[in-house]
Amino acid sequence: MARLPFIAGNWKMNKTVGEALDLIRGLKTAVSEVKGVEVAVAPPFTALHAVHKELEGSSILLAAQNLYWEEKGAFTGEISPLMLKEAGCQYVIIGHSERRQFFGESDETVNRRIKAALAQGLKVIFCIGETLREREEAKTFTVLDRQVSGGLKGLGDKDLKSMAIAYEPVWAIGTGKTATPEQAEEVHRFIREKVKMLYSQEISEEIRIQYGGSVTPDNIKGLMNQPNIDGALVGGASLKAESFSKIVRFKEM
Ligand code: PEP
Repeated sequence: MARLPFIAGNWKMNKTVGEALDLIRGLKTAVSEVKGVEVAVAPPFTALHAVHKELEGSSILLAAQNLYWEEKGAFTGEISPLMLKEAGCQYVIIGHSERRQFFGESDETVNRRIKAALAQGLKVIFCIGETLREREEAKTFTVLDRQVSGGLKGLGDKDLKSMAIAYEPVWAIGTGKTATPEQAEEVHRFIREKVKMLYSQEISEEIRIQYGGSVTPDNIKGLMNQPNIDGALVGGASLKAESFSKIVRFKEM
């Protein structure tokens, strides 16, 4: 089955509203004629509304970088799924390794966030990945198995249709070290097999699995040539229209 490639840019804690608008204007022009690739950007919360307005009439989708599972109430500093919908988001990134590492997110809280997002009609980019230590101790597959089972706990077939999985080895994020296409492919194949065991062949063939970790215009093609790599979640290289649009245009390379 042909899966539509999905390239998303995670801007993390970067870009003021003015900078975000400059970037999105540049990006809109640079990718306007690209066909056959789904593209999303995830600005910080403060820029979502402005970027949404600027994206009117464009096929670039809007994503948030996180959410909280409650609808509203006394949760100082948190953002609800409804607030993100209202700001114009179609997607939300959940379980990014920086959230797990610095903000104490666990498989259980990731799972609660995923359920809350889907209940509100947001699509989810569900992030998983092993640390360097876990890889060196040969625990990669055990860790991913736990993260996939924990993150997807209680979700049905229909939920999976509104999700993409991003495999992001923590040791490759922001370090300039990319997994080789073969290393990434081995893990993507494992994740797809796990989804097949938990759900069905059909769901496993449908779900898109993005790779993330120091993706650049120079390495995207090799990654995208792998049969189980369906896109990329891009951090650093998504902060400039030139590099991100080259990644989106990987088919032209
Ligand atoms: C990320 O944070 O999702 C990421 C992959 O970052 P980078 O591309 O900078 O490694």
